[in-house]
Amino acid sequence: MEIFSGEAAVKAPVQPFAERLAGHGLELRRGTAQTLQVNVGLTCNQACRHCHLAAGPGRSESMDRATMAQVAAFAARSRFRCIDITGGAPELNPDLEWFLAALAPLAPRLMLRSNLTALAARPHEELLALCRRHRVAIVTSLPALNASQTDAQRGEGVLATSLAMLRKLNGLGYGRPEAGLELDLVANPTGAFLPPSQCQAEQKFRGDLARKWGIVFTRLFTFANVPLGRFRKWLKESGNFENYMERLAAAFNPATVEGLMCRTLVSVAWDGFLYDCDFNLAAGLPAGSVRRHVSQMAGPPAPGEPIATGDYCYACTAGAGFT
Ligand code: SF4
Repeated sequence: MEIFSGEAAVKAPVQPFAERLAGHGLELRRGTAQTLQVNVGLTCNQACRHCHLAAGPGRSESMDRATMAQVAAFAARSRFRCIDITGGAPELNPDLEWFLAALAPLAPRLMLRSNLTALAARPHEELLALCRRHRVAIVTSLPALNASQTDAQRGEGVLATSLAMLRKLNGLGYGRPEAGLELDLVANPTGAFLPPSQCQAEQKFRGDLARKWGIVFTRLFTFANVPLGRFRKWLKESGNFENYMERLAAAFNPATVEGLMCRTLVSVAWDGFLYDCDFNLAAGLPAGSVRRHVSQMAGPPAPGEPIATGDYCYACTAGAGFT
């Protein structure tokens, strides 16, 4: 069996994260698993600068239907409260509809992440009808409401396409409280800086989207860009890496550790192997330091198992944290 060491081989100019925790009398161990996050592949129509997975049109890793069936069987024997489908762009996996229908009866909450442009670029009527039928929460990424910022990070024309898709989702009832169909937005900074307060950002997005485009949504989440993958490469090439890492480490907030998502989440990669979170997946650090496949698991990893960490974990503990 291949064994992996705890702290990632991703060196950064800051105190190792595990050491920083120890200085506060803390360590990172798993609690009871509540969320299953499934990464169905790294193919994406966009190649965003901040992507920690370096997903893009040139990536071909994709979960096949046999692995999806193994993941669904794992979910059936594990009783998660939430199943969260992510990528890449999950919409580009040809078996997404089949997978959603298989997972829908297995958890009270099902979430689908979308970058909006991938959804717009493929036939989506059947997919959205399925999402409505199973009350799948749709979580979309939208870094800014300024075309030059959004298009610089994500590609030309991305803001206009995203807004058109949000309007379409509103038309189907998504984001409208009376319909009970959840439409969330996720905003991340467009450069090497920390996000604004979630509350302020939500107020601004809510006001601007309603006034300028008549768009409504349920909630907005902000997060700090995680220094892995394409974002790490960009930080290094642009000379921002040291400063960004120091900024994250300086904003370390020990109060965030209790609620870190890796404590209650199981992340499954496109090949069916388990990680503590999507960032450890990107760094290649498996859950429990050993490669385990969903098909081998009687249930989720046990509470108390240590969580592998890397210096990118500072992105999760900066300020109000990232859960
Ligand atoms: S990257 Fe964040 S979620 Fe993942 S192990 Fe580190 S602290 Fe936990």
